[in-house]
Amino acid sequence: MFFISKKGGIFMNYETVNQALDAMHHLEETAAAYEHVMGVTYLDAASAAPKGSYEGRGKTIGVMSQIIYDLIANPENEELLSYLEENISELSAIDRRKVEALRKEYDQINKIPAEEYAAYEVLLNEAQAVWEQAKNNNDFASFAPYLEKIVAFNRKKAAYFHPEMQPYDALLNEYEEGLTMQTLDAFFAQLREVIVPLVAKIGQAAPVDDSFLKQNYPIDKQRLFSDYLMEVMGLDRNYCAIAESEHPFTINFNNKDVRITTHYHEDMVASSMYSVIHEGGHALYELGCGDEYNYSFLSGGVSMGIHESQSRFYENIIGRSLSFVKLIYPKLQELFPEQLGSVTAEQFYRAVNKAEPSLIRTEADDLTYTLHVMVRYEIEKQLIDGTLCVENVPAEWNRLYKEYLGVDVPNDTLGCLQDSHWSGGTIGYFPSYALGSAYGPQLLAVMEQEVGSVDKLIEEGNLSIVTRWLKEKIHRHASFHKPGYLFEMVCGKFDAAYYTDYLVKKYTDLYNL
Ligand code: ZN
Repeated sequence: MFFISKKGGIFMNYETVNQALDAMHHLEETAAAYEHVMGVTYLDAASAAPKGSYEGRGKTIGVMSQIIYDLIANPENEELLSYLEENISELSAIDRRKVEALRKEYDQINKIPAEEYAAYEVLLNEAQAVWEQAKNNNDFASFAPYLEKIVAFNRKKAAYFHPEMQPYDALLNEYEEGLTMQTLDAFFAQLREVIVPLVAKIGQAAPVDDSFLKQNYPIDKQRLFSDYLMEVMGLDRNYCAIAESEHPFTINFNNKDVRITTHYHEDMVASSMYSVIHEGGHALYELGCGDEYNYSFLSGGVSMGIHESQSRFYENIIGRSLSFVKLIYPKLQELFPEQLGSVTAEQFYRAVNKAEPSLIRTEADDLTYTLHVMVRYEIEKQLIDGTLCVENVPAEWNRLYKEYLGVDVPNDTLGCLQDSHWSGGTIGYFPSYALGSAYGPQLLAVMEQEVGSVDKLIEEGNLSIVTRWLKEKIHRHASFHKPGYLFEMVCGKFDAAYYTDYLVKKYTDLYNL
């Protein structure tokens, strides 16, 4: 039986709510399957694929992108959505959120012309390979035309999605719903007010010796250490694998298949160590998502800010604590007896917490980290509002590193080419790192009210209690709750003072300020 919709007189094909729900669930599973294939292709490109393979992969990605675009942009989805929206009161809470998620995606994707969407996916695949080469050869000029096109597309995307917003606000909104430049300008100013004088004080204090971290640490041994760290973190290798890539990342296919990557440096043992812990934090989030959200529009972590709050919680609050270093130190000494045999756990702890303005964001300490984020934020804002052109990015980068961190950038490899985000088309993401960092100490405060001292749990080797708490409060909800609501549900109103207090206490103790 057909009937006429109240909205616009479209002939609807659905006779019952269950029939429409079946159609939506089928659509979700189909979309999840395509995304799975695209995800494996991305992982392969970044880890195992030979350098010259991007052309064929580009064709595959182009075709697949078109298929995904058609699947979501399909006008029949309008019928499906209208029918479900008319009968919304009959749906479960989960299905209601799914309808909302599909509505958002459908409306957004229909705002991007199909050929622009597919061309952009192809561009990103090429940009990834070009960026890697440009970074290796310190050759910004070869990457610049790609970055120009990526910026241009992002400006268009912002206008397509949210013509009522300032373009950069629209991009921020993609990663953290509701986040604006106004909020960030105030948040970053509050951080700068505490961090800059603290960094200056530390500059006057007795320097920390971290020279032993820069000895030769054979990569095969570092790989064994990664396995051990994953075990300590409770990452089940039946469901979580590790690979190697230029830039560490996590990719999830469902809650029983999550991959992390790391990058080994022979002369920097702490680099991969903290990458594995950071990506491991992302992976625990994905692995902890409820089964009911698999293969659906609500699968996986809800936002970049919440995701980074999990990864940086493990990396810094857990991984850089004295109790954690003591826990893993026997294994480190066993693997690297020549390098660390005469170094104590306390010395190692101080070394991995050394605060010093530096060039590389991913290697930065907990204290100066957000200054690196602020540089990227300022550059992205200017690129998107058109006050900075791409060719001037290196100069602006170097200027801001001098202003915020007081360091001279010797070349673009160690400067504006260091991160993979822009080549991946990700503009508006960096601020979520800072937000995620700032969420951590507030989460810790609430967690400790319920489970007691986290330091004590780590000392006792009870890290699983911390993970269980995070799973219960955050992970299991996948993308069901909106990020701001989820955080407030657990912690109450966000207050950056938790973060600044944490930094002041930690570094005052470490450096006897
Ligand atoms: Zn991360």
